[in-house]
Amino acid sequence: MTEREDRVRDVYERLVERYGPRGWWPADGPFEVIVGAILTQRTAWTNVEKALANLKQAGALSPAAMRALSAAELAELIRPSGFYRSKARKLLAFLEMLDAGFEGDLERLLAAPREELRRALLATHGIGAETADVILVYAARQPFFVVDAYTRRTFSRLGFRPGRDTYDAWQRLFEESLPRDAALFGEYHALIVEHAKDACRAEPLCDRCALAEVCETGLGRHQVAGDERVVQDAAADDEDMEDFVVAEDARERVRPA
Ligand code: SF4
Repeated sequence: MTEREDRVRDVYERLVERYGPRGWWPADGPFEVIVGAILTQRTAWTNVEKALANLKQAGALSPAAMRALSAAELAELIRPSGFYRSKARKLLAFLEMLDAGFEGDLERLLAAPREELRRALLATHGIGAETADVILVYAARQPFFVVDAYTRRTFSRLGFRPGRDTYDAWQRLFEESLPRDAALFGEYHALIVEHAKDACRAEPLCDRCALAEVCETGLGRHQVAGDERVVQDAAADDEDMEDFVVAEDARERVRPA
């Protein structure tokens, strides 16, 4: 095992010990995961919950029922999630892809070979790498590691340096360091989000951190402020990272709790 593999696994074990299993993604079935993954772009999860509740109350949380809505009706139901007209177009684009490529059959889509499924998702309006990988790991149970701004922030501070600061490079860092296992990848991502909300916030709380003794920043080997700026600027510049943003108030939930 390489030193990097050893460190990636060590971090996982420390996070499991601190936070326990997270059991993501909370949803009644894969379609709700997909809708939640799209609605959570650029907003806090609390707002997504309100939009999902509206959809449930209207009986619109299935592909067939959502298809029957006009764009305006759908937008109104998901209004609490913000950017609601844009997100309505994204949801409808997903349904169009489902109809055109998979005869409208969600199970058929999710059963597609994983690379084919990822390509189909990435070719769909409004679905970038993060959203695609959330759908892949939590709805299709396929092993793709989800990288978000929290991942980059925490692991940069820990001292990990992928070759380039891109989505693909960060994803490779994890996927090459861990067994290719969807449950493990899903759990690890959920733990990173919990850790980023609890300790590795914009202003990190290193004195309460489960990773302090293995973290370059926690051990005082580099400064937080400079590193933070680099990570945030890189995230803002990278189109692949636009799906999920770190909330200004890092205590706000940007993912399911
Ligand atoms: S020690 Fe500090 S900088 Fe390092 S992971 Fe923990 S909270 Fe983040």
